[in-house]
Amino acid sequence: MIRVNENYAKLQASYLFSEIAKRVKSYQQANPDKPVIRLGIGDVTEPLPPVCIEAMHRAVDEMSKRETFRGYGPEQGYDFLREAIAKNDFLRRGADVAADEIFVSDGAKCDTANIQELFADKISVAVPDPVYPVYVDTNVMAGRTGKNVGGRYSGLHYLDSTQENGFVPAPPSEPVDLVYLCFPNNPTGATATRDQLAAWVEYARKNRALILFDAAYEAFIRDKSIPHSIYEIEGAREVAIEFRSFSKTAGFTGTRCAYTVVPHSVAAYTRKGDAVPLHPMWNRRHTTKFNGVSYPVQRAAEAVFSRDGKKQTKALTDFYLKNAKIIKKGFAKAGFEVAGGDNSPYVWVNIHGDSWEFFDRLLNEAQVVTTPGAGFGKMGQGFIRISAFNSRENVEKAMARIQKIL
Ligand SMILES: *Cc1c(COP(=O)(O)O)cnc(C)c1O
Repeated sequence: MIRVNENYAKLQASYLFSEIAKRVKSYQQANPDKPVIRLGIGDVTEPLPPVCIEAMHRAVDEMSKRETFRGYGPEQGYDFLREAIAKNDFLRRGADVAADEIFVSDGAKCDTANIQELFADKISVAVPDPVYPVYVDTNVMAGRTGKNVGGRYSGLHYLDSTQENGFVPAPPSEPVDLVYLCFPNNPTGATATRDQLAAWVEYARKNRALILFDAAYEAFIRDKSIPHSIYEIEGAREVAIEFRSFSKTAGFTGTRCAYTVVPHSVAAYTRKGDAVPLHPMWNRRHTTKFNGVSYPVQRAAEAVFSRDGKKQTKALTDFYLKNAKIIKKGFAKAGFEVAGGDNSPYVWVNIHGDSWEFFDRLLNEAQVVTTPGAGFGKMGQGFIRISAFNSRENVEKAMARIQKIL
């Protein structure tokens, strides 16, 4: 008898974005003459930087000739890309990361999901609340949690991100084995200071824990004192794996390219307490189950690090940050407490009420789609997330409508 993975039955229905879509659709059907502006989902709207398009075109031409055609590439990514990443994203910032510690992939979503294959079933896992749902759901699928009761899975350790702690939870007093951190954060837009990250690194070293650091939004950091990488913190190379993506940095959400850093020095432990390096394990996993990102896409990603590429991606993230500033200012002016938006494309608004009620109000009265904070976890109740990913015209129009009703 083929048995099913019964852990899947514990998963909560993927309620958030389907529920939003349902409410927007029913509003549009009832009000076909009222155009809706979407500041909900975290997807980019602006086209790829021209350098990426040119690099991709050139690579496609190479694929058209026998002499320059390429078949399977290295599963871990081409050296030209791994070296450009190591040099520009890490060495330039004083973070010690070598090209062969970088694994190029088709997404940080898959990587943050797949990495936990390397760990034992019975480990304790800490996740922030509110949270990017992938971290939680993949551990539920793997059987590391009990049932969901009142919006929380038993067996998971939740790290409350609240207005009081500036949406940056401190390490817990008890030991956990695996910790997910994401800065700049989705959904709150919060960033972690050097000292806050150092406290987590110290905690992980003391408890022989591992930090999974999601830096998908690092390109939005403008404040020079905020670290872009966990490896800017001393001691992190033994206790942290970092995830990066070209999705938000360079508009690759539909193009697909990301990477994961697994330092040679990072380890997990056997039952007896012997250290096992994770680099060879991830290399084995990656080469067994993945066959590499397409050559034209890796060339497009490489172009991000060229002189023009840096200028163009900076302009792209600047554009979204200006949107975020407009959104943040609009809500602040209407008397709301707002977080995020300065080094992040997300603005997190304290609406002092029910997230879904407020969502409905903005949809029905201003025709603006947001994301109810409650959809990201219990601590998100009372907040909404506004995404800066849209055209300037739409953001300005949306904020004018919102200001009129608030
Ligand atoms: C968008 C996003 C990613 C990037 O995912 P990709 O699969 O690389 O597109 C990763 N982490 C978080 C928190 C995100 O919001």
